[in-house]
Amino acid sequence: SDSRIETDVVIVGAGPVGLFAVFELGMLGLRAQLVDSLAGLGGQCQALYPEKPIYDIPGYPKILAGELIERLAEQAAPFQPGYHLEQRVETVQPTEAGRWRVVSSAGTEIDCGAVIVAAGVGAFGPNRPPLDGLYDYEGQGPGAGVHYLVSRREDFRDKRLVIAGGGDSALDWTLSLSDLAAKIYVVHRRDKFRAAPESVREMRRLADDPASPVELVVPYQLHGLSGEAGRLSGVDVATLEGEVRRLEADALLPFFGLSMNLGPIAEWGLDLERGSLKVDPAACETSTPGIYAIGDIASYPGKLKLILSGFSEAALAAHAIYARLNPDTPLHWEHSTTKGVPGFGA
Ligand code: FAD
Repeated sequence: SDSRIETDVVIVGAGPVGLFAVFELGMLGLRAQLVDSLAGLGGQCQALYPEKPIYDIPGYPKILAGELIERLAEQAAPFQPGYHLEQRVETVQPTEAGRWRVVSSAGTEIDCGAVIVAAGVGAFGPNRPPLDGLYDYEGQGPGAGVHYLVSRREDFRDKRLVIAGGGDSALDWTLSLSDLAAKIYVVHRRDKFRAAPESVREMRRLADDPASPVELVVPYQLHGLSGEAGRLSGVDVATLEGEVRRLEADALLPFFGLSMNLGPIAEWGLDLERGSLKVDPAACETSTPGIYAIGDIASYPGKLKLILSGFSEAALAAHAIYARLNPDTPLHWEHSTTKGVPGFGA
């Protein structure tokens, strides 16, 4: 497997800023490994707006966010970074040798000289509805009561489901599961859906068909869960006026979109300020020497949450890390024009 890798720097987060840090480190002769909870590179740019044009990247009057990520990956490639995707960095701990051990949710273990946290606003995860006892019903497999994704449709055969939300995910899964579930209550806070018009039309057709398991429950919001010992038996929904209705159900599937969550980073003992990591702006070092933060997650007076500020912070952190890892070898620094880049010429 991936376990026990040794490198100069681990970068937590493969968004635009983490990717550019590979280049800046590489130019100083430092190797890097990146870890990201998403399945692909690019952070917010790729996950949230790949087809939107960005207008404030120097030198590009207009570039699609997804294309910017391709370019950044291309710029990082000569330095052969290791990518560890679909895994969250869980712990960062000092070693006896004065280095760091970084461990991911997939069991990847990396020994490194410094850590750069380029985690944006945190790892992406589902938006959870604010319901008491929600966590008791979460889990995986057919026995669980609350699911944020459908990994196996068969798990829902002959089940009574409550699907909540008014977007594409809610409607796509309603349509997909309607041929095997025993019952599907579609709960939404208003009678207007944000999903693709064909999906809305098809869902309404099913809701009008007495032979289909789909029933529209609008305008209602999720109100409470009932069950015992982690087994869901019902979902209470309520109108804005507070009228409550009990839906008998085996599973709740809330589809309220993705959000970012600082997650384990909050437990690494670093100084936080309103969800961001406080850094010294000259070196982007956090309150723990050897751990740096750049991009959206870094905060200092005057910080702008822009991609271009993140690029500059990547350069500052790379230089500070070089000095830290090579205390006896002052940097012989050259412009990229003089030095060149492997594979791209000088
Ligand atoms: P992110 O892009 O947030 O990437 C962070 C990555 O870290 C994520 O992939 C996340 O999964 C990962 N991560 C977090 N925690 C962990 C962990 N524990 N383990 C593993 N991985 C982890 N900026 C501009 O400059 N110009 C614009 O025009 C512009 N337009 C925007 C439009 C929209 C719709 C949005 C949403 C943002 C826009 N932004 C724009 C902001 C810009 O996208 C962010 O500033 C930029 O993405 C920050 O990059 P980053 O690399 O710091 O973090």
